[in-house]
Amino acid sequence: MQEKKSIFKHPELGEITVIRKPRAKRITLRVRGGCITATLPYICPIRLLEEIIDNNCERLKEEVAGTRLRIIDWDFTLKGPCFYLKLQQSNNEDIQITGKDGVYILSCPASANFSNSDTQEQLRDAIKTALRHRAKLIIPKRLAQLATQHNIKYSNVSVRDSHSRWGSCSTRGSISLSIYLVLLPIELIDYVLRHELCHTVHMDHSPQFWALLDKFCGTSSKELREQLKSYHTGF
Ligand SMILES: [Zn+2]
Repeated sequence: MQEKKSIFKHPELGEITVIRKPRAKRITLRVRGGCITATLPYICPIRLLEEIIDNNCERLKEEVAGTRLRIIDWDFTLKGPCFYLKLQQSNNEDIQITGKDGVYILSCPASANFSNSDTQEQLRDAIKTALRHRAKLIIPKRLAQLATQHNIKYSNVSVRDSHSRWGSCSTRGSISLSIYLVLLPIELIDYVLRHELCHTVHMDHSPQFWALLDKFCGTSSKELREQLKSYHTGF
């Protein structure tokens, strides 16, 4: 069975993407970029989803507003402990990105029209280039450090443009990580990396998995997980 995608229209929240997965065991909701995605078990009445959405409507509205795509203009900045980006006027005709050591300058022609959707897309692409650059420099290195610290072996690491997942780990111990991690506070980056390292030992989210992750985090990983869920990167 393959996953099935459809759109569910909610009177207050608008369009919600519904993905039915053969292996999903429960209903999960995710809000990214101002959009809601619901994952459902293959055979699950849509009524159950409606009920969950109605019970969480206010919270979802806030999350949608908080994660809606920001308009990029001269005032736009992206700041995190290991990433900084701002815009600067330039005499060039086109949009350019430069930077090192985590500080990036997005150069724009003075005539840039920020209300144009093509311009917004170009700017977002340029920002993604910077995020990718930074992520490739620091994320695999940090993963290797943590793996050594916890005595874990993984086969391979890749950094991807994934907006829907912070990380994943295959059964072969190959770890994939999102470029957006560089926008998180350090303790949350480490949480995601440790989470994936734990999956090289336990492929599931069993009590044994969480116990190992608690040990790696040196604190309750549940708290970090909650922080990660409610964290908005601002991009
Ligand atoms: Zn996991």
